[in-house]
Amino acid sequence: MQVKNYIERKNLEKKLHLFKNTCHKNHLKITPQRVTIYKKLISSQEHPSATDIHRKIKNIFPDISLNTINTNLLAFNKIGLINVVEGSGDAKRFDVNLDPHHHFRCLDCNKIIDFYNKDFENIKIAEELIEEFTITDKKLHLEGICDRCKSGYAWFGEDVDNVNYGRSKKRR
Ligand SMILES: [Zn+2]
Ligand SMILES: [Zn+2]
Repeated sequence: MQVKNYIERKNLEKKLHLFKNTCHKNHLKITPQRVTIYKKLISSQEHPSATDIHRKIKNIFPDISLNTINTNLLAFNKIGLINVVEGSGDAKRFDVNLDPHHHFRCLDCNKIIDFYNKDFENIKIAEELIEEFTITDKKLHLEGICDRCKSGYAWFGEDVDNVNYGRSKKRR
């Protein structure tokens, strides 16, 4: 646990260093609000939306508007600090993890969870696709029910009829 904390602390320092460097390079002023938004992105593993971030920092900066958060997130995206998760018409979700990885989306709580899969990275793309498109990225997108939501089902027992009640519940 202590080792894990140490690694997390090191990662946090590394990320903040990257944040400051990238902002400097792109002439984006480092304000306390921007640092806080970025820190909230790092500490969330759920690929938050602008609204999620807004909810999380309202107690620190009560006057900050959702629009300001949104503008800053898009600015971070523009300078390559975060990615926008390819969406399906929902509110934009943001991703601070710049390492190559894939996503699992929980259909119940709508959390997007990172995972890594070496086998998939080694899959060859069919010739005809390479001829037709210029491919710049390869991502695996899985959907289903996450661990936490799955364990919530246990409360409803084995009764299949009751499972639906579990699924419709919001857990955020
Ligand atoms: Zn879930
Ligand atoms: Zn991700």
